[in-house]
Amino acid sequence: MIAFFALVAVWDDMHNIATGDSFRSRAIAARALSQPPLLHQLLSYSTEVEGYRMSNSSHINRQRLLERFLRYVQVETTANPDSEEYPSSPGQWTLGKILYEELRAMGLEEVEHDAHGLVWATLPSTAGDGASNTLPTILFNAHVDTSPDASGANVRPAVLERYPGGDIPLEKNGKVIDVASCPALNQLIGHTLITTDGTTLLGGDDKAGVAAIMELAEHLLEHPNLPHGPVRILFTCDEEIGRGALHMDLAKAGAAAGYTLDGGGQAEVENENFSADQMTVRAYGNNIHPSIGKGRMVNALRGLSKLIAALPTEALTPESTEGRDGFIHPYSLSGAVDYAEAKFLLRDFVTERLDDQALLLQATADSLVQETPGLRFELVRQRQYRNMADAQRSAPHVVDFSIAAYKNLGLTPHLGAIRGGTDGAVFSEMGLPTPNLSVGQHNIHSVLEFASLDQMVLAIQHAIEVLNIWQQQGRS
Ligand SMILES: [Zn+2]
Repeated sequence: MIAFFALVAVWDDMHNIATGDSFRSRAIAARALSQPPLLHQLLSYSTEVEGYRMSNSSHINRQRLLERFLRYVQVETTANPDSEEYPSSPGQWTLGKILYEELRAMGLEEVEHDAHGLVWATLPSTAGDGASNTLPTILFNAHVDTSPDASGANVRPAVLERYPGGDIPLEKNGKVIDVASCPALNQLIGHTLITTDGTTLLGGDDKAGVAAIMELAEHLLEHPNLPHGPVRILFTCDEEIGRGALHMDLAKAGAAAGYTLDGGGQAEVENENFSADQMTVRAYGNNIHPSIGKGRMVNALRGLSKLIAALPTEALTPESTEGRDGFIHPYSLSGAVDYAEAKFLLRDFVTERLDDQALLLQATADSLVQETPGLRFELVRQRQYRNMADAQRSAPHVVDFSIAAYKNLGLTPHLGAIRGGTDGAVFSEMGLPTPNLSVGQHNIHSVLEFASLDQMVLAIQHAIEVLNIWQQQGRS
């Protein structure tokens, strides 16, 4: 996660290479939450168990968590967009096997490394047999692959205990993580930070999530007095190249709600992302030798260029928008005189506005046809993914519980909206509402990437509190 100013960074566009969309993180707007009445109500749920809850959950085994994280980031799991295989790189099998073995050794149930490389496990409810049947199953998900934007080979993590503030010089290539371009550092003084040696990415995106979920599982096993319903664990592959949800099996997940631990910093809940379609515009012209083209040639390439030029540039473009504003983005153009083709991304947080964007393209094409006899356009719209808020509208408690859990830990939660897609959006659309939560990632997809161990600990404490709230709700 790239965090800057009040914007919080994020996530890889889930959507794949064929569309030309980039998988880089997008800046997203975050806003502090007011506290609706429901949340006040939720706050009171956990007060009765607060004493013992805090005495147990606050003692997360930091050293073991750190060792896990360091172990996982050293496995090269770079996703390969050019591969047809699933997972797209052999290291994802390797890490999956490690996680499978560790989960089995811990004594989790239904531990499986499936035919696609996904790792599944179940932590049974701590409630008695009768009650556990009525408690909702909650799924925690993280992805094992890392971004192809920077090398993930021979990652040599460096641990900086009690960060004193200021710029952080890395061991190699003269690289420096500087406060000016990463002001989030100002909030991390005293934290244990893990950086790279300057030659690779770290892979905290999303091995911070993987390590946190693994430590959560072991912590809950060691503290059977912490109340929770059934917990399902799922580690997915190839999220960074838009294939993370490809082999998600909803029936196998068997969960009422999910949370991806794949977010930046701390106390962010990302519950919105772009809705997305792709539009292919085909232009048909008429080719003839240019020497005798007068009055007879119809240039499809010129027609399509005019169409792109006629679109707004001061708004509705990636170059001119941020926060919650959507855009029409032409990202590919090819062709000749008789035929040309362009591809556009349509993006907005309000799904209906994709229709407006499509209409604008159609109207622009129609007017060009009017002024250029013989020119013809064909527009083909392809559905991509939807704002997870659409699917989560029927289950607002999934986000509310996570917000309440942050407040119970004394943190100020923020809601974020992702200018891209996420696996959670696909899970949500499939029927499993799945917002994304912070897990201490910073400067992702870069050799300047680092992670905060303290924020990973907070993510685990938060997950414990989320489960506590869920089991109280499930009893009613
Ligand atoms: Zn990620």
